[in-house]
Amino acid sequence: MSDLPPFEWPVFLPGWVWLCGAGPGDPGLLTLHALHALREADVVVYDALVEPRILDWAPRAERIYAGKRGGKPSPLQRDISLRLVDLARQGKRVLRLKGGDPFVFGRGGEEGQTLVEHGVPIRVVPGISAGIGGLAYAGIPVTHRDVNQSVIFVTGHDQTGQAPSALDWGAIARASEVIVIYMGLKHAAQITGELIAAGRLGSEPVAIVTDATTPRQAVLETTLGRLPEDAQRVEPPAIICIGRNVLLRHALDWQAGPGRTDPLGTRARPESA
Ligand code: SAH
Repeated sequence: MSDLPPFEWPVFLPGWVWLCGAGPGDPGLLTLHALHALREADVVVYDALVEPRILDWAPRAERIYAGKRGGKPSPLQRDISLRLVDLARQGKRVLRLKGGDPFVFGRGGEEGQTLVEHGVPIRVVPGISAGIGGLAYAGIPVTHRDVNQSVIFVTGHDQTGQAPSALDWGAIARASEVIVIYMGLKHAAQITGELIAAGRLGSEPVAIVTDATTPRQAVLETTLGRLPEDAQRVEPPAIICIGRNVLLRHALDWQAGPGRTDPLGTRARPESA
């Protein structure tokens, strides 16, 4: 970046915590602010979903892992937040690095609240969320004028690990053509049942994108009717996308090379403004 015109990078002051998104995997999807923070940080507290290669861009920082290890339960959220408070009070520049975007199903909000309650100054660096960038790497646009004017991002399980009972799946089914589910594999059967009961069709296109944007990325194209079975065949992390936008992958799967030009059958119409 030294060959770019000057830019006033924010100064990473000792005693601050930066809540920073690492994007879905591919290190090239970090923001410039995230890269700057990696270079400046004294300590990086990172989650399981942060691609290990990204940490190599913080060669002088101490690394603290705050995710699940070998099937053991993850450290309590409160413990992680208080650890951040401690590190900041020691006068360190603390980089809290989270997969995707820290404020999208990432508990970044909760950690930020605890830090603020303890008088620790914070900065938030947004990241590319898996439900948008991960789908783009699979050739699936989350919105397309011929398919949807809205999109719903929803989590497949709540704080207790159950399918979120507080969610009105019927309303979700009716509200948006496209539904993007984070953490949805475990309760895929229940979610599918609720969506179909609310009128979504079993024939509707679905994609399950695992390890999106990493060298391990895999895309399973299926239908809503077959989702419960197919969800059991893959390992997390996975994004489930339900909707006709999934068909666009047949044209836009840029990693596979040129595809069919008109998978929705809508391009014959004259292009409107
Ligand atoms: N803050 C993150 C989401 C954290 S919740 C973000 O904005 O992306 C964890 C869930 O995110 C996973 O269970 C999975 O549903 C999704 N996820 C994160 N990274 C992913 C990846 N590389 N590929 C597929 N899904 C991913």
